[in-house]
Amino acid sequence: GRPQLASLNTVVEEALQITGHQFRKKGIQLECHLDETLPEVLLDVERMQQVLVNLLMNAIQALNGRGLVRVTTRRHSDTLEVRVWDNGPGIDPSIRDKIFDPFFTTKDPGEGSGLGLAVSYGIVQDHGGEIFVESEPGQWTEFIIRLPMERTT
Ligand code: ADP
Ligand code: MG
Repeated sequence: GRPQLASLNTVVEEALQITGHQFRKKGIQLECHLDETLPEVLLDVERMQQVLVNLLMNAIQALNGRGLVRVTTRRHSDTLEVRVWDNGPGIDPSIRDKIFDPFFTTKDPGEGSGLGLAVSYGIVQDHGGEIFVESEPGQWTEFIIRLPMERTT
């Protein structure tokens, strides 16, 4: 699609609808904190939705049937921020620098292509934003996306 002024919260909510069945099926808890005062920004809605779905599916797969996913939107200085947090196994420091590489996966063949994060990285870059990960191995993982706030006037 092409960039349009759109609500990041709506994109998050649509991604949660798309993945809702997986959350319910696996009994994974979901917490959602959306800052309703965020301004609209220029978004390629479909591709940004794909990013959120990728992150949510990764969290669901990492949790392997129990746990909590927390999705947050908020302002962070000149950016809009989305955080996807899970209390799964975390990311080992030895692979941390590789997870955004195309075809890097720790999943069984057929379960993971290793493309989700690489594609997501490119999409966020195309929005002029950044995506990165923080993790406490054995405890939690959090993917953070920051998108520039566009002036609309
Ligand atoms: P895939 O999901 O097909 O493996 P991705 O590019 O989406 O490919 O993710 C690459 C790798 O990053 C995963 O195989 C996994 O090792 C790691 N990863 C991604 N998200 C998480 C997460 N929430 N918790 C732990 N590891 C993760
Ligand atoms: Mg994936």
